[in-house]
Amino acid sequence: MELPFAESYKIKMVEHIRRSTREEREVWIRDARFNLFNLRSGQVFIDLLTDSGTGAMSDKQWAGMMTGDESYAGASSYYHLKDAIRDITGFGYFLPVHQGRAAENVLFSVLVKEGDLVPGNAHFDTTKGHIEFRKAVAVDCTIGEAYDTTVEHPFKGNVDPEKLEKVLKDNPKDKIPFIVLTVTCNTSGGQPVSMENIRTVSSLAGKYGIPLLIDAARFAENAYFIRQREPEYAGRSIREIVSEMFSYADFMTMSSKKDAIVNIGGFIAMRDPELFRQASVYNIMFEGYITYGGMSGRDMNALAVGLYEGVDLDYLETRIRQVEYLGRRLTDFGVPIQVPVGGHAVFVDAKRFLPDFPREEFTAQTLAVELYLEGGVRGVEIGALMADRDPVTRLNRFPELEMVRLTIPRRVYSNNHMEYVAVALGNIYDRRHTIRRGLKIVHEAPILRHFTVELEPAV
Ligand SMILES: *Cc1c(COP(=O)(O)O)cnc(C)c1O
Repeated sequence: MELPFAESYKIKMVEHIRRSTREEREVWIRDARFNLFNLRSGQVFIDLLTDSGTGAMSDKQWAGMMTGDESYAGASSYYHLKDAIRDITGFGYFLPVHQGRAAENVLFSVLVKEGDLVPGNAHFDTTKGHIEFRKAVAVDCTIGEAYDTTVEHPFKGNVDPEKLEKVLKDNPKDKIPFIVLTVTCNTSGGQPVSMENIRTVSSLAGKYGIPLLIDAARFAENAYFIRQREPEYAGRSIREIVSEMFSYADFMTMSSKKDAIVNIGGFIAMRDPELFRQASVYNIMFEGYITYGGMSGRDMNALAVGLYEGVDLDYLETRIRQVEYLGRRLTDFGVPIQVPVGGHAVFVDAKRFLPDFPREEFTAQTLAVELYLEGGVRGVEIGALMADRDPVTRLNRFPELEMVRLTIPRRVYSNNHMEYVAVALGNIYDRRHTIRRGLKIVHEAPILRHFTVELEPAV
C-alpha cells in the first residue's frame, strides 16, 4: 500500500481555542454589527480571515528570536537576513521594512509619479492603493480566464501578453516606471504565474526598456505550482525555480507575513546600487535606519530562518495539500468554489452558492455571517462590500466575483479543522434555499469600508 501523506512537522506548543454555542455567536455577531472584523479573536473557533502574519513559527525561528542583535546600526541580524535574501533571491541590495505595504511606500516614493501607468496582473489592494495615492493608474492585464471561477486553467495569475504590449506600445516609456508581477496573484485567488509567462513579461519589459517588479509575498507557493504544473520544471528543486523566477526581475517587494512565515516584517530587494541609495532616503524617513528599517533584530533573525523554511519542498507540499484538501471536501458537499484552488485560500463562489439572492443585500457577506453562526468559522468577504462605491456616482459596485475567502494560516490548523469547516459550509449549502434575505448598511466609511462597515439584517 502506498503510504499516506502526512505533515512534515510535529507540534511542540499548543494554543487553546474555544468552541462556542450558536446562541453566543448570535449575540456576538449582532454586537459586531454583522462585520466579522469586529469580532474578538476569542469569539472565533477557526479563524480563516487571512494568512497574513498568522502562521506558526518553528523552534528554529524562536531560537533566532532569542539571539537577535538589537544594535541600532550594523546588527548581525541584519547581515543574517541580507545573506539569506541574497542566497535565495539573488538580489544583492535590500532594505528591511515593517511589512509589504511599507516596501511599496518606500520603493514607489522613488519610482511612481502623477500620471504614470503601472501595468501588471491583478494588483493587490495595497499595491493599487500606493499607485493611486500618487495619482498614477494600475492597469490590470491578467488573462480573461482568471475571472471565471469554473474554468480550469493551471496559471490563472498569468498576464495576457497582448494586453500588456498594448499598454507598453501606446504610452511613452517615461510614463511607465515598471511592470508588476504578483506571485502568486492574491487578487485573482492565490493563482500562480507560470515561468513561461514570467519569461514573456520579462522579455516584453526588456524590449520596451521598462523594469520588472515582482510582488513576492507568495513566491515560494508560486514556485511549488510551477514545479507541479509546468512539465519542464517537474523534479527541479524549489530553490532553483525561485532563483530563476527572480533572475527575470529588477527588484522585488516582500510581505514576509506570508511565505516567510513570520508575524510581522517585509523588505525591498534590488540589483541597482543607485536605486538602493535613492530608496534608502525614504526608508530612513518612513521606516528606520537602513540596517533595521521597521524591524527589530530578533524579527530579522526569525525572518532569515523563515525564508529558508518557506522554500522547503516538504513544508510547501504540506501547505498546498491542506488547501487542496479543504477544496476537495467542499466540492464533495457540492459547495461551488473557484477551480483550481489557489495556494493560500479556497474561494467560495457566493453567487453560485445563493443564485437567486438579491445582490444589493450583500451575498458573500451574508454567507460569511452564516458560516460564523453555523460553526464559529471566520472567513472574509471579497465582493461588493470590499469593492466600495463608485467614486463618481457613489452607487454600490457589484464586481464580477462575489466570494467568501477561506484563508489558511501556515502550520496552524490540522486537516480535522478543515473537515469541520467543510461540514459547516456543507450544512449551509443543504439549507441554502432558506437564505433569502441579507444585510443592509447602517454606517460606512468613504473608502475601504469593509473593515469598519456596520450592518443589520435587511428584513
Ligand atoms: C499582503 C500583501 C501585500 C501587502 O503586505 P502587508 O504585509 O499586508 O503590508 C502586498 N502584496 C501582496 C500580493 C500581498 O499578499
